[in-house]
This record gives sequence, structure tokens and C-alpha cells, in this order.
Amino acid sequence: MEISILRLGHRLPRDERITTHVALVSRAFGATEFIYCGQHDSSLEKSVSSIVDNWGGSLSVRHEKSYSKVINEHKKNGFVVCHLTMYGLPVLKVLGSESCVSRLKTRDSKLLVIVGAEQVPSDVYQLSDFNAAVTNQPHSEVAALGIFLNEVTQHRMLEEKDFANAKIKIVPTEKGKNIEKL
Ligand code: SAM
Repeated sequence: MEISILRLGHRLPRDERITTHVALVSRAFGATEFIYCGQHDSSLEKSVSSIVDNWGGSLSVRHEKSYSKVINEHKKNGFVVCHLTMYGLPVLKVLGSESCVSRLKTRDSKLLVIVGAEQVPSDVYQLSDFNAAVTNQPHSEVAALGIFLNEVTQHRMLEEKDFANAKIKIVPTEKGKNIEKL
């Protein structure tokens, strides 16, 4: 499955760390595109690119002014659009629904996941195919995205996996730290 992430409403300096973490979760779960709206942040782009350079994966990062343009273009290109919000339907209900399963069942399915920061504009709820809640309680976009992507990828990324183009990798050890240069 091809996974893209759209992060809305990035604010400097407030969201510097959280948006970076949203991107880290995206890469670790195999997303290939990270688009953010709100304020342009070249240091966010540099730090995400540097993580990808060292640890591998193929996550690209770019800024876009218009979230609706991103959503509409992705829909035109066959992406299923899922917005994470505490107001949505329970995530397992969404992912298990016939309409979602039928659109995400093949290896070449495409998914755009939207995560907010500040108040999410109301048209995002309408433009999205699904509005999914990871519990109907307020919590963190980083946690919501991690749990959502873990479900979507059916826990596959929790197995020992290395990214093909990594320069360094961790050799899992019971105690201590072991990093290997490739
Ligand atoms: N106050 C904002 C609003 O009214 O939409 C939400 C702020 S929240 C910290 C930032 C983002 O985290 C949300 O836009 C949503 O993407 C995600 N989020 C927070 N709680 C969530 C939940 N229970 N399920 C899914 N996503 C959630």
C-alpha cells in the first residue's frame, strides 16, 4: 500500500517538535510522502531528510499552501482519504467497513492520512472519505497516527525490518545498544 500523510496547520515554533514526530512515525510505518500545510519550515524539512538519509526509507517531505488542493489531487489519483479526528467513527469500525476494506485491499491501494494541529477546518471532514477516531477522546496526533498506521499495516512494521537504503541500522539486543554501519 502506498501511504501519504498530510499534516495540517503547522505553526512555528509551537509545532516544530510535534510535526517532526508525526513525520518520524510516518517514515517508520513506511509512508512515502509527507506534505505539510501552515507555516513553511525548512528546518523541519532538513531534519526529516537527514533521518531518511541515515536510516533509510523513501519519505519525501514538502510544504503546500492549500490543503484542499492536496486532498483533491490525491483523490483524483485514486487515494482513499482518511482524516484522524476524535469526532470520527471508531477506527476499527472504519477500517473494517466494507467500503474501506474494498478500497484498501490490494497491494497497489493508496491512502492519504490527514492529521491536524490547530482547529481543523470543517471542509476537511467533508472532503475526507473517512473520519476515524482513535478513541473518542482528545489525545496526541503522534499517538493517533502511530496507532492508525499500525492497524492499517496490520502490525507488519513491528516485525524486525530494515529499510533497504539505510546507512545505519540497529541490531536488536536484549540489553544495551548496538548500531551497525552499512
Ligand atoms: N482542537 C483540534 C480540533 O478541534 O480539531 C484538535 C487538536 S489535536 C491535538 C491535533 C490532532 O490530533 C487532530 O487534528 C487529530 O488529527 C489528532 N487527534 C487528536 N485526538 C484524536 C483522536 N482521539 N483520534 C484521532 N485523531 C486524534
